[in-house]
Amino acid sequence: MKTRLLTILLLLPFLTLAQKAKKPAATTRQPDGDKQTIITNLNGRFAEYAGISKQIWDFAELGYMEEKSSLLLQEQLRKEGFTVTAGVAGIPTAFVAQYGAGKPVIGILGEYDALPGLATEAKPEFTPIAGQRGGHGCGHNLFGTASVAAAVEVKNWLKSSGQAGTVKIYGCPAEEGGSGKVYMVREGLFNDVDVVLHLHPGSQNAADAGTSLANKNAKFRFRGIAAHAAASPERGRSALDGVEAMNYMVNMMREHIPQDTRIHYVITKGGDAPNVVPAFAEVYYYARHKDRDIVQSIWKRIENAAEGAAKGTGTKVDWEVLGGVFNILPNVALAEVMHQNLKTVGGITYTPEETAFAQKISETFGEQKVPITNAAQVKDFRDASESATSGGSTDVGDVSWAVPTVGLQTATWVPGSSAHSWQSTAASGMSIGQKGMIVAAKTLALTALDLYKTPALIEKARAEWTQKRGADFNYEALLGDRKPALDYRK
Ligand SMILES: [Zn+2]
Repeated sequence: MKTRLLTILLLLPFLTLAQKAKKPAATTRQPDGDKQTIITNLNGRFAEYAGISKQIWDFAELGYMEEKSSLLLQEQLRKEGFTVTAGVAGIPTAFVAQYGAGKPVIGILGEYDALPGLATEAKPEFTPIAGQRGGHGCGHNLFGTASVAAAVEVKNWLKSSGQAGTVKIYGCPAEEGGSGKVYMVREGLFNDVDVVLHLHPGSQNAADAGTSLANKNAKFRFRGIAAHAAASPERGRSALDGVEAMNYMVNMMREHIPQDTRIHYVITKGGDAPNVVPAFAEVYYYARHKDRDIVQSIWKRIENAAEGAAKGTGTKVDWEVLGGVFNILPNVALAEVMHQNLKTVGGITYTPEETAFAQKISETFGEQKVPITNAAQVKDFRDASESATSGGSTDVGDVSWAVPTVGLQTATWVPGSSAHSWQSTAASGMSIGQKGMIVAAKTLALTALDLYKTPALIEKARAEWTQKRGADFNYEALLGDRKPALDYRK
């Protein structure tokens, strides 16, 4: 049995390669000269961009604290001849960099914030890094670097071809709960842009016309009266009771809301010691739905639950909305262009070492396990614009209502990985993630080229966007007029 297993394991890399060898004929198209130059350039700079993404992975800076990550990307862009404006929209770690002149203006989004509590080494087993708060479980180290790599290639092409047009890259902090892009949209930073491109790390290669969930989130702060919990509890009012009563009401509410709603919370402060009646407690809530009007109506009921809980427990409550994002407005015309380019670029082929790494990670998925060879494939095109294709939310949503926007995901993680997991953190810090990143950079750059060369594509995309957005659309951020919550991770 052991020998047979060993034989299979030894053969796997070759079986994988053999399967892959068959694949390209079906998925790869012959790129033209300009596109081939970009592909060749990015292949040549693989080590350089892998290094940048690894540095950002090592920094693992949380939302609005991405000083080193942001600076590193800015430096790279300055070196390449971009004009960089840092600290935009009242956010020290946000930036806009641009190159070129005139229309069309193509924007590319980049992210670089890490998540709290996901620090693990880039190994195929969970290996926490002591003393490190954050980890790149959403692969934003690859996201930011791929966007810069793509923008640089677009710049090189604009320069050598003499083509009119501008490329703008947006350094977008605090995607994870901080809604960084919402402030950039509110500031009007996308007003002169014709089309925006973005990517997201993932466990497959796909460019769909998919959407995402709108969300709103806040910290609810209850204030009570401290007292000795045994000697004089009658003199106290527990702030933690307020939190628990609120949670109880919200949990009962779940039966009476649209079933595809998501509500989740964590108690961020529950008191200090059992023998002291807690004078302060805090609970952090998210509500999500693909329809932002439903989010708003459910949100009102969550606020009512907070007020009711405070009244019933003799405490006081106030809350701070920390984030709120729109659902993505999908654009089929743009997604088709992105999909064609992703097929031209093709998926990711593992070396024997990467195959061994991926196998080991894949074993941890249990029933969710899928073939790791999926990383070599590109998913068929789907117009999923009528349903939320991912359970997640993103502040790209707000951008997509300000300007026609399209994205893709590439297999930066072992197929079957969930975002926000140690497995995705690990892959984001090694060559599997870096290969997926370069596939994304190539696809973004190739898509931008198509848009510069064929203005009719932009017109078609904008016509679809105008029709879907509706004539009476008026942007009002879900987080209202608050200033960026620069300390939400502190
Ligand atoms: Zn993400």
